[in-house]
Amino acid sequence: MIDLRSDTVTKPTAAMRRAMMEAEVGDDVYGEDPTVNLVERRAAEVTGKEAALFVPSGTMGNTIAVKLHTTHGQEVICDSRSHVLNYELGMISWFSGCVPRAIAAADGILTWDQVRREIRPLGPHWAQTGLIEIENTHNMAGGTIYPLRAIREICDGAHELGLKVHMDGARVFNAAAAMNVPVREIVEPVDTVMFCVSKALGAPVGSLLAGPADAIARGRLYRKRLGGGMRQAGVLAAAALIAIEETPQCLANDHCNARLLAEGLSRIPGISVDPAKVMTNIVIFDVSGTGMASAEISACLKQRGVLINGINERQMRAVTHYDVDRAACEQALEELGACVAR
Ligand SMILES: *Cc1c(COP(=O)(O)O)cnc(C)c1O
Repeated sequence: MIDLRSDTVTKPTAAMRRAMMEAEVGDDVYGEDPTVNLVERRAAEVTGKEAALFVPSGTMGNTIAVKLHTTHGQEVICDSRSHVLNYELGMISWFSGCVPRAIAAADGILTWDQVRREIRPLGPHWAQTGLIEIENTHNMAGGTIYPLRAIREICDGAHELGLKVHMDGARVFNAAAAMNVPVREIVEPVDTVMFCVSKALGAPVGSLLAGPADAIARGRLYRKRLGGGMRQAGVLAAAALIAIEETPQCLANDHCNARLLAEGLSRIPGISVDPAKVMTNIVIFDVSGTGMASAEISACLKQRGVLINGINERQMRAVTHYDVDRAACEQALEELGACVAR
């Protein structure tokens, strides 16, 4: 099967499996797992933050971050297609008691000017703004990247008003690879950042939340409350370390393959996509011109050994990663062409 549904489907590499087997471990709830301690230190270094926390999922990392920066009854400003709003089971409300204030942003990329107009003080009618959340790269907008200046402007503006900014950087390493700048430079202005090692970086499990030491210390307690206190988690941290050290060099290749897919898709009658907008490893394309619903195309592709999901009736999303090479992408294009030509 050529699996382009997501970069979460990546299997751990041989080096990861070896490192997992050999990992030195202890009880991390006591702070005694040396490999977890090491990955948290490395995550703090690569993000340029004081401290980091190893969490089982990106959802938990974002959930803890929202909780750290807000109090009940506040608003969290985010983009209308953001992961925190649409794909985390309403955790902004469920755990933090906050209301999302969604802004429809072009390509999922907020600007300070858009954010500024939605900021509310506490008033007789309003919930006070508690946090601004930005997603980089933006998943459902097709792996789009925040320009460094946009991040800087949002953070400067927010900080001036005493507000914090959290970056959902599930794929911030993809942004770094595409821009050819270090992750720490991208996340320098934000207060906290979450990144996933379980996506294109290839580790089987885990994400890291990085930020100021006092916030991360409080975050550790929220992780325990959420059921994320893991014991000999060094076996997972060992793979996460390799994901951080070794996989980022391979991401440019995924981006190349995504561009190849987009260019191929743009030549298939009835499919529309702008290859120039594909900057990282996600390709979102519109199939409405084929006269087929995305679910029909998915079903046809599956019979031909290719997995690509729809994100709605008209749009589909293909995500490249190290388990799908260039030849597999070409094969996927061929099968897609055959499916829509029928
Ligand atoms: C995958 C993802 C997350 C976290 O997802 P988990 O499945 O909980 O690890 C968060 N934000 C974005 C943008 C993502 O793509």
